Amino acid sequence: MAILHRVRESGYAEPVKAMGSGGGCPPSPARFPDENPNPVMRILGEGTLLRANRGSWLILSQWKASEGRPVPPDWAEAVRLSIESRASCERELQIGSTTYRLLIVPVADLGYADIFGLDVTGRKRVERKLRLDAQVFENAAEGIMIVDQDMRILDVNLSFQRITGYGRQEVLGRGPEILRSGSHDDVFYKQMWGEIKKTGRWQGEIWDRRKNGELYPKWLSISAVKDGDGQVTDYVGIFSDISTMKRTQEQIEYLSHNDSLTGLSNRPHFLDRLELGIEDARRTKDRVAVLFIDLDGFKQVNDTYGHRAGDKYLREAADRIRSMIRQSDTVARIGGDEFALILPHLAEVQNSTVAARKLQARMAEPIFIEEQEIYVSCSIGIAIFPEDAADAESLVQRASSAMKKAKELGKNCYRFYSPEMNTRVEEVLSLKAKIRRGIDLDEFLLHYQPQIDSKTGRVAGVEALVRWNSAELGMVYPDRFIGLAEETGMIDAIGEIVLRQACVQGRIWSEQGLPDIRIAVNLSAVQLRRSDFATVLETTISKHGMPPGGLEIELTESVMLVDDEVVMNQLHRLKEMGVDLAIDDFGTQYSSLAYLRLLPIDRLKIDRSFVKDLPTKGGNLAIAAAIVAMGHSLGLEVIAEGVETMGQGRSLASRGCDFLQGNLFSKPVPPETLRGLIDARVSLQPASRDEPVIEEPGFSVRSRAQFQGDGI
Ligand code: C2E
Ligand code: MG
Ligand code: MG
Repeated sequence: MAILHRVRESGYAEPVKAMGSGGGCPPSPARFPDENPNPVMRILGEGTLLRANRGSWLILSQWKASEGRPVPPDWAEAVRLSIESRASCERELQIGSTTYRLLIVPVADLGYADIFGLDVTGRKRVERKLRLDAQVFENAAEGIMIVDQDMRILDVNLSFQRITGYGRQEVLGRGPEILRSGSHDDVFYKQMWGEIKKTGRWQGEIWDRRKNGELYPKWLSISAVKDGDGQVTDYVGIFSDISTMKRTQEQIEYLSHNDSLTGLSNRPHFLDRLELGIEDARRTKDRVAVLFIDLDGFKQVNDTYGHRAGDKYLREAADRIRSMIRQSDTVARIGGDEFALILPHLAEVQNSTVAARKLQARMAEPIFIEEQEIYVSCSIGIAIFPEDAADAESLVQRASSAMKKAKELGKNCYRFYSPEMNTRVEEVLSLKAKIRRGIDLDEFLLHYQPQIDSKTGRVAGVEALVRWNSAELGMVYPDRFIGLAEETGMIDAIGEIVLRQACVQGRIWSEQGLPDIRIAVNLSAVQLRRSDFATVLETTISKHGMPPGGLEIELTESVMLVDDEVVMNQLHRLKEMGVDLAIDDFGTQYSSLAYLRLLPIDRLKIDRSFVKDLPTKGGNLAIAAAIVAMGHSLGLEVIAEGVETMGQGRSLASRGCDFLQGNLFSKPVPPETLRGLIDARVSLQPASRDEPVIEEPGFSVRSRAQFQGDGI
């Protein structure tokens, strides 16, 4: 105890010599470090704590030890071993949240050891954090890439290697552009880096390329790493491969839009598409048709052959419908055996019946189920936007009730929702049949309307206009049947009749001593597309002895739209034969000057819509005058149609229009009436006294009373 006391007083660590063996203590070479804030203790080989500084208090309180008393046996053991082996050793001691590293230094000769402690709590925490960070970095499910300021890859983790296919060594020191897919342009990357510079981070979807070349979408977030001064040192990119997620999403979307049995759209998707179609049609002023298709006798198939056969039957029906539609049309399965079809941008209501009939024909082909040939049919209801309903849901409902009507009428047929439409379509159908009969019965004939030379006042030519003198319907004008005839191909037969009659008439007039009367015949673009048209015309002309120079063909501007070699060749052949060509209704459609120059034409016919309001409407006058000037500059003659008043005739003539045609001179008349008109001469002398005041002197019609027409 005395020794202990002395040591404490001196303040130096003095080795205790042969403690317990009675030997004395030599003076310590250094003062025991009481001021050291770290623990310092001296423990005898047999485990008694000899000295401890103030920094050791926490340890002592845990050990429940004090000077002169034993330390816990494991520590006593450690001290003993250290003295025996004369080797220092290190041990850690955890007390609460504090960690000490204790270095046991034996002073073997004196039979004790000094223990120097260090509080390593802080360092431990950092080490642990580093260890954790490294683990998180390495084992994160996301790919991580650290890039330095010079855009060199510093490190990547395991997931990076898994996702990109590149090993760590392959990418270290390289630039991240090795991952680029080429799917994004420079502007994209510029914006991305711009945002990182500005805000320190960016995130978004990006398409990259794996080492094996495969493209994949990833969700990438990049953050700038800053040092203590706020300077950017590195960038960390964290990304996940979202290709699977995308595929799943697409699949979910597909399933939510499609019927799983047939792969067609389902009802909600169909209604969405229909709503869009309706919106579109509102803008373009088109019609939209919904065809509601119900399979006749599906229940029977199901009952007789079972559900599997029923499913097969439905799939086959779906395939058939699908095979018949255009890409822009939507078809859906909206009930058990109910399908619906959208026909957008419908120009004519009748066109929906063409689709319905085609569908029915296709459905009528046999289906093979269980080696049985089954014949099925379908009933179709048609509803039209905007006539039948203004929204998708009601349009489908109306189409469905029309379908029920079709079933009531004995199935395997189609019905429109609105009774008027049924009537109209029936009318059209019956008109088609009547036209066909009219052709067989030779009910088509020509009337002729004179064309006056505005310089001489003489009849220079006539336009042949077809009429249908139907036994059932009376006199029918071309506006009612030409369109239908074009649609059905009957225009070829009518066109041949017209051409034949015009040629016969040309020969008759020629024989009557009127060889200079040019006969203009209207030609539909459909006819011109037939490759043998020029041949047919040549044969007809020569067969009937018509002088080819006396024939003119009127084409519409739409011919110019067709960049078709067949059409071009035909026109050149006609020209070679000596037939004149004119562009009818000029100015109403697309007129390309380039095409005008390419086509071998002789005349332009100003459409009557520009003639109508002359001379009062300045705009029309300007258009008419411009057409005349343009025509002349291209070396073409210009004729105006639909001239009804003196004012119109005068203003056109004064602007150099070469020929005038219209009811002012005569309506279209039968050939025998026309014969009497040919000699009459329209006077170009100043107006007679009973004429109203003339704005532009020098033109009047003297013999107007002689002209009469077919009363359109
Ligand atoms: P288009 O070739 O422009 O014929 C001129 C139309 O205007 C004729 O009607 C004629 O009767 C009418 N018209 C003549 N003068 C006047 C007038 O002063 N005022 C008014 N309001 N109308 C006048 P149409 O005969 O009914 O023929 C209508 C259209 O049918 C023709 O227009 C032509 O495109 C077509 N067409 C007539 N005949 C044939 C033919 O044989 N074959 C073909 N493919 N189409 C024909
Ligand atoms: Mg015409
Ligand atoms: Mg015309």
